[in-house]
Amino acid sequence: MAQQEIPAASFGVVGGSGTLSSDFPARLPDKDIKILADNLIFDTPYGKSPAFRLFSVGEVRALSCRMHGWRSGVTRADASRQVFWVFREAGVVRVLSEGGVGTANHLLDPRDFLIPDDYLDLSNRKDVMLDGRYLLIMRDALCPELRASLLAATKKRFSGRIFDRGIYACTDGRHFESPAEVAMLKGCADIIGQSICPEVYLAREIGACYAGLYYVVNYGEGIRPKWSYGTMKDIFYDDAPMIGEVLAETIRETAAKERHCECLALRKETLLKDVYNEASDKG
Ligand SMILES: [Zn+2]
Repeated sequence: MAQQEIPAASFGVVGGSGTLSSDFPARLPDKDIKILADNLIFDTPYGKSPAFRLFSVGEVRALSCRMHGWRSGVTRADASRQVFWVFREAGVVRVLSEGGVGTANHLLDPRDFLIPDDYLDLSNRKDVMLDGRYLLIMRDALCPELRASLLAATKKRFSGRIFDRGIYACTDGRHFESPAEVAMLKGCADIIGQSICPEVYLAREIGACYAGLYYVVNYGEGIRPKWSYGTMKDIFYDDAPMIGEVLAETIRETAAKERHCECLALRKETLLKDVYNEASDKG
């Protein structure tokens, strides 16, 4: 049954495959983490939301959902809008995401971590805004401050290769890309995944900072002769707890800091008010 009251939270976590398999943050040993409520489903203008978990890290409250809110029978665009509508109502000002990705850059290997500073949207998803009241300037769309916190937290918990910049190419999926598609992306992007858009737009629309931690699970087709499904599976199960630890540490570290980034300032009033008045009444 849908809940009517959306609890206040300052952090949003759009979970991907890493947090899914570790039941984030339930299995983390840290004593300052508490699950406050589970399976919270809300009515939104875009249909019933996915189930959220409300948890706290110290004094900070956060809402998280599993696998980007994706589920069968709901388009990925609607799932994202449901998630970010709930975040907006909850007062979320910082959003973290994570996920597995393939490579377009031939120097990357499985188990490398990358915190991208830009993206390339190759998805064909439509209607990916909430109410269109804003002109969204996508300069520094991946918040430099939140990325720095994510990087510091990742370095504390992971001794492998971490790249603090790179371009994430977002495709529609669910299939992976063909060798010709990967060849086209080589030189334009470093990693390929399916989830950074529209999340990055919706975060800016609600005035929140956004950053993501992405880990390589496979080579793009044609980048290396073969990649292993077994390795991908091992990463999915074995590395998940560490990804949860990094996210919790980022929340812990960032919470005490004031926002000095430009994320909010890069959201301007739209000049097309007459066009979107009707839509904004809905939101
Ligand atoms: Zn920011």
